[in-house]
Amino acid sequence: MMARSWFATREHQPGVWLVAAPPHVNCFLVTGRDRAVLIDTGLGIGDMYQAVAALTDLDVVVVNTHYHWDHVGGNDGFANIAIHELGAEKLQRGPDPGTLERYAAYAREMLTRFGEFRTTDDEFFAFLTDETTPRPLPLDFDFATWTVAPTIPTRLLRDGDELDLGGRTLRVLHTPGHTPDSICLFDERNGLLFGGDTFNTGPIYAHLHDSDVDAFARSTARVAELTDAVAFVYVAHFSRYAEVGSFLREVATGFSEIVAGEVSFVESRDDDRSDVMLARFARFGVLLRT
Ligand SMILES: [Zn+2]
Repeated sequence: MMARSWFATREHQPGVWLVAAPPHVNCFLVTGRDRAVLIDTGLGIGDMYQAVAALTDLDVVVVNTHYHWDHVGGNDGFANIAIHELGAEKLQRGPDPGTLERYAAYAREMLTRFGEFRTTDDEFFAFLTDETTPRPLPLDFDFATWTVAPTIPTRLLRDGDELDLGGRTLRVLHTPGHTPDSICLFDERNGLLFGGDTFNTGPIYAHLHDSDVDAFARSTARVAELTDAVAFVYVAHFSRYAEVGSFLREVATGFSEIVAGEVSFVESRDDDRSDVMLARFARFGVLLRT
């Protein structure tokens, strides 16, 4: 068996590579004829620049789907970084103090408990694949000295902007809700929607200090109008990194039911180990503030 790299890579569709730190975060490298776009750069663990350089010789433009540290941690190796204009200032500020320490505790607990999950999965479920199996931390990595460097964007994005890769175009959809600066990217010709943290196949975080559940409902409803033109939805977190287009409508319906007060919640915890309320749907969840 080959030694596992920290990054799991797989060409899911022609020119669309998953570059994941399973199950923490899923980034996507999208290649065109002339250049490539890397959608998010992960946790700042492992060398994202090298992982991408192994997949393409093209010039790579990073697009951060929003300012959160776990989507921008590998930015600093790249010359060109784009983010929605509302996220630029926070991107340059870096993560809040204590955030990485709390995530390290969460990651350690997940890795410790993964052993039971592996055993159970092998015996009964067979959910795990190579690209969804957690990796050992890189040998040169130490949680104690872990930092996510603030980065300065070289391009500010607005709704409707287009990124031309040569034979492939990604359109920016401003989708506030998770954060004010959240975007999705739409490759209309190939029917691909990159959801960032607006669409996720685990708990969707709508409970953060700058989250807005009404905006979330409007944004997901707007993106759901594209459902018939979308074959695959790619999401930033958890093991099911690709869903079919109809997932867009499921999430939009879930948010409309939440806003209408038709949904019940259970107590849960987020990755920051904060108490939250979870609404469970068939293929995803939504977290709200308690
Ligand atoms: Zn986020």
